[in-house]
Amino acid sequence: MGRWLTWVSDQHLQGWACSQCEWNFPIPSLLTDPEAKSAYDRLAAGKFQGHDCAQHPARTRTKSGTELFAERARKLVMRGYKPKDAVDLVLQEIMLEHRSEPKVVEQARADAEDFLRRIRQGLI
Ligand SMILES: [Zn+2]
Repeated sequence: MGRWLTWVSDQHLQGWACSQCEWNFPIPSLLTDPEAKSAYDRLAAGKFQGHDCAQHPARTRTKSGTELFAERARKLVMRGYKPKDAVDLVLQEIMLEHRSEPKVVEQARADAEDFLRRIRQGLI
């Protein structure tokens, strides 16, 4: 079964979560130092590898825009697209779908940068 680390950012949770179950690893709110952040990312990746989806409730949370963006880009990467190209494609689609919603487009651009940064760090 495919599962992957997914970044969740909504009013209930900000941090890494499992794509398949309710496992998550919230980011400590005081974390602003980039080194502390990457330590947190590595810790999350390790804990994610070690968790058993069967021990957690199945995923029911609604996906945020950030998460949906990463999911669409990830699908393209798995089909052989380079991460940069995948992100550009998803971004173009979102710009078409949400032509009259500048806030959505703005968020998508931020999501694109986050996605590429996390790919570079080997997190997703
Ligand atoms: Zn899981």
